[in-house]
Amino acid sequence: MAVLDHLTSQQAMDLENEYGAHNYHPLPVVISRGEGVYVWDAEGKKYYDFLSAYSSLNQGHCHPKIINALVGQAQQLTLTSRAFYNDMLGRFEEFASKFFKFDKLLPMNTGAEAVETAIKICRKWAYEVNGIDENEAKIVVCENNFHGRTTTIISFSNDPVARKNFGPYTPGFIKVPYDDLESLENALKSDDTIAGFLVEPIQGEAGVYVPSDGYLRQAKALCEKYGILFIADEVQTGIGRTGQLLAVDHENVKPDMLILGKALSGGVYPVSAVLANNEIMKVIKPGNHGSTYGGNPLAAAVGMAALEVIRDENLTEKAEYLGKLFRKELNEYIANTEKVLLVRGKGLLNAIVINDDEDGDTAWNICLKLRDNGLLAKPTHGNIIRFAPPLVMTEEQIKECVSIIVNTLKEFE
Ligand SMILES: *Cc1c(COP(=O)(O)O)cnc(C)c1O
Repeated sequence: MAVLDHLTSQQAMDLENEYGAHNYHPLPVVISRGEGVYVWDAEGKKYYDFLSAYSSLNQGHCHPKIINALVGQAQQLTLTSRAFYNDMLGRFEEFASKFFKFDKLLPMNTGAEAVETAIKICRKWAYEVNGIDENEAKIVVCENNFHGRTTTIISFSNDPVARKNFGPYTPGFIKVPYDDLESLENALKSDDTIAGFLVEPIQGEAGVYVPSDGYLRQAKALCEKYGILFIADEVQTGIGRTGQLLAVDHENVKPDMLILGKALSGGVYPVSAVLANNEIMKVIKPGNHGSTYGGNPLAAAVGMAALEVIRDENLTEKAEYLGKLFRKELNEYIANTEKVLLVRGKGLLNAIVINDDEDGDTAWNICLKLRDNGLLAKPTHGNIIRFAPPLVMTEEQIKECVSIIVNTLKEFE
């Protein structure tokens, strides 16, 4: 069979099932084309994408400006490795550093790699600047976190499916409950080997848990009080998604280290980064860290275009406005049903909680019906469905989506 022969959806699923490792449980839909807020399956049926590759596609599918940057750069130069300079990386580093108001950027590819990078920088800073004894540094993380899939990162996950039988685990992490300042302060004051606090400003993967107002600001103040680094993992929440450029901006918090990924390329190419100021980034010296593809010219071109789209199309403001509208309209329905307990979120990162057991299958069945009705979403954990459409929506489109969602939910009453 030639590579470009048309596949039916069934054929495509059969192939993945036969030849791919079963490390995901996808919703049964095969996407073969995307444009803006829409995707089409192999049979040509059109859907609203309400997941956006876990908030990677804030700029919408195949944004022409980003694709142009990709194609143009692909015809010039794609990869040099960091053994040599290239004429794109510095431009991207300057652009993104100024965009997010940090001195410096360290480029990687995936979100998990950027989290690993931040952990390494934090530890090195602890020994070389903060005077912690070698191999003693600890990082405080939150319960129910999601930061990626590497061995070190799953070491501080508390999802048994993500962890079990992948040990031995990396030591040096302390878990505290999310949105709990007292536990955080207790951890910080009882141990002088703590180097940093790694936190998601909204816990996306866990089910779009929005912490109490003031949590991030006060957590940052505690980090300052105890002289440790506040590290924001904005891989999912950043780049306009929550109605501010960064979710920490809702509380005017400036992290010591910022971790970005996903929408940093608008879903076009793996681009991630850690940003920090000089007094922290200076601990990284040649040979300490790297990646063959990290900071390649294609990534740099795509990353710049992706951020320009966010700025030029006012996508942050759109997320804020459309998110309010979305929650208001869903709340009108929720007030009159037993089926859905609540909608929560910020900007266009939202979730509904279905009135069902954590291990019930209603949320999954609702997502199958949403698919039939032309909208793609997926449960996060059990009874929670995340809604994260591209930010390039119109008001008319989001209203149509709300009516698809509400009509689908009514089928389950
Ligand atoms: C998706 C995600 C990651 C991991 O990114 P990958 O590109 O999948 O490695 C890390 N942190 C958060 C908050 C995420 O949502």
